[in-house]
Amino acid sequence: MTTRKQHHGFLLLLLLALMIAWPQAALVASAAGPEQQNPMTVVVCVVDGCPDVSLGYLSETEYVRQLCADERFQHKAIDAVFPSSTAAGHAAIFTGAYPEANGVTGKEYLDDDGELSRFNNPGVLDVPTLFHVARSKGLGTAMISAKANACKMLSGATDAAIWPASVPDWVIETVGPPPDESTQYGNFAGWHIELDRWVLKTVEAYLEQNDSPAFVGINVGSLDKCGHRFGPVPAVETTEALSAVSEGLEELVATLDATRPGRWCLIITADHGMTRVDTGIPARDIVGDVTDEDIPMTLDGGVLYVWAGDDRARIAEALRLSEGVAEIIDINDGARRAELHIEHPRTPPLIAVSERGYMFIEALFLMEATLGSHGTTLDTDVEVPLIVVGPNAGSIDLDCVNSTTDISSIVEILFGM
Ligand SMILES: [Zn+2]
Repeated sequence: MTTRKQHHGFLLLLLLALMIAWPQAALVASAAGPEQQNPMTVVVCVVDGCPDVSLGYLSETEYVRQLCADERFQHKAIDAVFPSSTAAGHAAIFTGAYPEANGVTGKEYLDDDGELSRFNNPGVLDVPTLFHVARSKGLGTAMISAKANACKMLSGATDAAIWPASVPDWVIETVGPPPDESTQYGNFAGWHIELDRWVLKTVEAYLEQNDSPAFVGINVGSLDKCGHRFGPVPAVETTEALSAVSEGLEELVATLDATRPGRWCLIITADHGMTRVDTGIPARDIVGDVTDEDIPMTLDGGVLYVWAGDDRARIAEALRLSEGVAEIIDINDGARRAELHIEHPRTPPLIAVSERGYMFIEALFLMEATLGSHGTTLDTDVEVPLIVVGPNAGSIDLDCVNSTTDISSIVEILFGM
C-alpha cells in the first residue's frame, strides 16, 4: 500500500522530472515539427539488370540521360553485391546489409528439409527492411514489382505488395489489369515493356490515391528479360526497354511533383548489371562426371552454387579445369568469402564463377536463346547506376555511398533520421 508521504514524494519527483524534461521536449518538438508535418515520400526504383554503362547508349535527349546531366540531381556508379543477381541485389538495397548479414545469399538456398528453396517470403530476411523503418515513422509502404519473388520477399512491412499475379481491385479499377501472361512470347520485348509501363502506372495510381508520405519500392523487369534473351544494351530490344523505362520514369516524376510538390525523392538504381555471353558451361554434366550422387546445385548465370559433400574437392577440381570457369570459392577460403560479404550458413560450401562471355547453363541448346547473363564480379555485372532525383537531391552527400547497401543510408537521411 502507498502511504501519503510516499505519494507526496512521487508527485514532487514527477514535477521535477517535468521541469527538467519540458524545455528539451519543447526543443525536440520544434526541431522535428516541420519534418513530422511534412515527411518526404521516397521512391526507390530498381531497374532490374541495368549496368551503369548502358545509360551512355541512350541519346542525350532521353529523360534518364537528362537526369544524369542535370546539376540539381546526382548520378554515380555504385557496386552491386555478390552474387550479382536478383534476390541478393534486392535484399541488399532494401535492407542496407550484405548477404552475410541479411541472409539472402543468392538465387536459392538449401532449406531445413534439404530442398532447394527460392528467397520468396519475408521469413528469409535476417534483418528489418526499409519498409519496416518507414512504417515505424508512420509512412505508407508499398512494393510494386514486375517480378513476384522479390516482391513477396520484401512484403513483410508493406501496406501494398503488388505483382502481376496479385493485383488489388483498386489497381484493376484505375490502371487495369497487367498484360495477359499467355501472350508474352508473341512479342517478347513488347510484352515486358508493356508490363513495366503497367508497374509504373500502378505506382502513379498509388501516389494519386492520397498525398500522404510514403516509401515505395519498384522493380521494373524488361531490361533484365530482354538482356538475357537479346543481350545487354546496345542490343536493339534491350535499348528499347531502357527507353521505355526512361519515359515511364519521366511520367512518375511528374506525378510525384504534382501530388507532393517539394516533398519527394526518387532513387533509381539496379540490383545487378548484365554481361553479353555466347558460351555455356554444362555444370550438371561436369559434376555428373565426378559423382553419381544427386548434388543440390543452383545455376544462376555467372555463378554456380554447389552443396557438395564428401566429393567437394574432386568437384572443385573438375570445375576449375573446365573452360570458362574463372574462380572457385571453397568453404575454407574464409578471406575471399569475407571480402565478398557472403559468409552465412546458407552460402554453399562450393561456388564457381564464370569468365566473361561464359555462363553456367542447364543444357547447351538453351544458349540459342540466351545472349546475356549476370552473377559474377565482372564490372558489367557489378557496376550499377545510382541516380538521386528530387527537390533536395543535390544536397545529399554521396561521397560514402559506393555500394547498393549504402542506399539505405540515403533513405534514412530523407526520413529525417
Ligand atoms: Zn535482377
